[in-house]
Amino acid sequence: MNDLKLAGLKTTRSTIEVSGVTIGGKEIILMGGPCAVESSLQMNQSAETVKKAGGKILRGGVFKPRTSPYSFQGLGLEGLNYLVQAAKEHNLLCVTEVIDAHSLDLVVDKVDLIQIGARNMQNFELLKLAGKIKKPVILKRGMSATIEEWLLAAEYILAAGNPQVILCERGIRTFEPSTRNTLDLSAVGVAKELSHLPVIVDPSHAAGRRDIIASLSKAAIAAGADGLLIETHPNPDEAVSDGPQSLTPEQFIQLAEELGAVAGSVQRVFTFGGEGDTLEALRTQIDRVDQGIIELLADRMQIVRKVGDQKRLDRVKDPNRQNEIIQRLVNLAAELQLPPDLVKRLYPLIFEFGVQSQIKSKLAQDKDLEASLYTLGSK
Ligand code: PEP
Ligand code: MN
Repeated sequence: MNDLKLAGLKTTRSTIEVSGVTIGGKEIILMGGPCAVESSLQMNQSAETVKKAGGKILRGGVFKPRTSPYSFQGLGLEGLNYLVQAAKEHNLLCVTEVIDAHSLDLVVDKVDLIQIGARNMQNFELLKLAGKIKKPVILKRGMSATIEEWLLAAEYILAAGNPQVILCERGIRTFEPSTRNTLDLSAVGVAKELSHLPVIVDPSHAAGRRDIIASLSKAAIAAGADGLLIETHPNPDEAVSDGPQSLTPEQFIQLAEELGAVAGSVQRVFTFGGEGDTLEALRTQIDRVDQGIIELLADRMQIVRKVGDQKRLDRVKDPNRQNEIIQRLVNLAAELQLPPDLVKRLYPLIFEFGVQSQIKSKLAQDKDLEASLYTLGSK
């Protein structure tokens, strides 16, 4: 792909900064909202959901490129005001789709990011116009576009002068009818191999059904996505478009609550609950971390007991192994800017309880053994 002069992989990956939000960094950026803006109330409720979940960007279509000319085409400027207002009131950024020069003109100064949808991925005139603006552009992959075509579409925007492009995988057309499209998660890895641009995933338009959105979202993070764009509606059954794939507020929040663990497992971060700067929000985060610490200690203890089963009673304590562990963790702590003394003081305690539990479980096993031998002998 020689023509990826600007979009092609470089020594460093690009991050895109929008008003304090970094896309393509360590943090997974959650974006959510309804398919189409319908009312001020609907947008306020959606913004509240996104905020509660820890999302950073509110979405909502006001110019809808619909497959049928008879489907709802969007509220236009009136809808844009609802989107912008709701985002502002909830301290969120906002994104909306543009479909032509006119809609781009109308929204560009009002939203934080613009979206070019799957149906317009190869609308080259629109791509060139998006290259002239100073706002980040989320470029969705066309439903029948190869990864190369998608990256070349990004190249159009970059070549026209806008370096802020975020690629969005949203499912492609395959022979499989059980989902609306097929989410191509390999495209995340391939796009990141070929390009320095951030890549996000929209599981909603891929699946077309809400029951698998949570698992696809987690898989997307595991596959290396830098963010998620997910449809949520205060009342999906009443949605004017894409209701079946929209999560309820509860589902959206529940999913967000589960994302942190997946992000952590691939050395990324997602903080459920957003802001993190009020005392209450910070305490909620601490409570969640504390619960995780205790759960991990319980897991550790269980493994320690299994290890005990493989040791002789007089060899339960293993000072060499303990020193090795402490040394490794002291180094890790220093790397993570934790005081090494914390490890030095904490771990002897953890070891002590581990050894005690091994001894206890061995003595109990010995007693059982003795009892069964005694029963055997007395038979
Ligand atoms: C959308 O995000 O509202 C949309 C129409 O998505 P896509 O372009 O991926 O179909
Ligand atoms: Mn939609």
